[in-house]
Amino acid sequence: MVKDGWFDCHCHTWNSPDSESKPEQLCGIAIEKGLGGIAFTDHCNVNYWPDVDVLSIVSKSVKDAERMQREFADKLTVLRGVELGDHAYNPEIARRVLDIGDYDIVVGSVHAVSCAGYDKNISKIDFSTFTDELARGYLGAYFKETLRMVSEEDIDAVAHFSFGVRYVMRASGRVIDVTEFFDTIDMALKEMVRRSIALEINANNVVPRRAVEGHLIMSTDGEARELPVEKLDYEIARRYHAMGGRLITLGSDAHAPERVGRDFEQIVAELKKIGFDEACYFQNREVKFYTL
Ligand SMILES: [Zn+2]
Ligand SMILES: [Zn+2]
Repeated sequence: MVKDGWFDCHCHTWNSPDSESKPEQLCGIAIEKGLGGIAFTDHCNVNYWPDVDVLSIVSKSVKDAERMQREFADKLTVLRGVELGDHAYNPEIARRVLDIGDYDIVVGSVHAVSCAGYDKNISKIDFSTFTDELARGYLGAYFKETLRMVSEEDIDAVAHFSFGVRYVMRASGRVIDVTEFFDTIDMALKEMVRRSIALEINANNVVPRRAVEGHLIMSTDGEARELPVEKLDYEIARRYHAMGGRLITLGSDAHAPERVGRDFEQIVAELKKIGFDEACYFQNREVKFYTL
């Protein structure tokens, strides 16, 4: 059981193309686990427009959240959200997505970048064919796009900051020194502090359900060493905290009801070690804090 009052700010309902979770089921599990709130953040990857009608996805998702909020009013806060991804591919549609919904929370994602002829969604690229040099170039492009997104786009939180790293390293066995990306990562974190954008700690990054075989070389206390990929987002959170960043959201990224609030106790324990005593959610796009 998780403690009363924590919020899962990243969940997918049946409105996402890759989830069949009924809104009632997600809310039921959230209540069972003692969460204070849950956000429906259905996929809105604007690079898939017009093959995927992202505008109807968000309209339906917002309606479902409002319906659930009425149904569970005394038990759970249900937030109207969207996972708006890959803005750079179609800024016009990204703007329309923002215009059509009364959102509580807009979560920004990078799921695709354009690099060396690859511009598909990261989950659809076979990185096992990449040389280490190409993999490093790809990750450089990934973090640059993250920096651009947090500098320019209208978002409340960054979803799964190191998503790209997890996919590049999965089933690779490779070892990559990520310290070369920390200048770009630090610039992005500074922008997030300046613009009051939250850092999401995504359960899929820090407690991956599929083993990530690759390792990263990074420094967590001034001394570079080889560490598992799932440590990266905690190092990013440590840097964000050191810069004065205090907006942390928890996200299960649940694509199935039972994964709502997944591994939050473990994640909160790690966040407390870094120095976070509070996390946050957004309501009507305004930040609200709660104690961890
Ligand atoms: Zn995502
Ligand atoms: Zn997601």
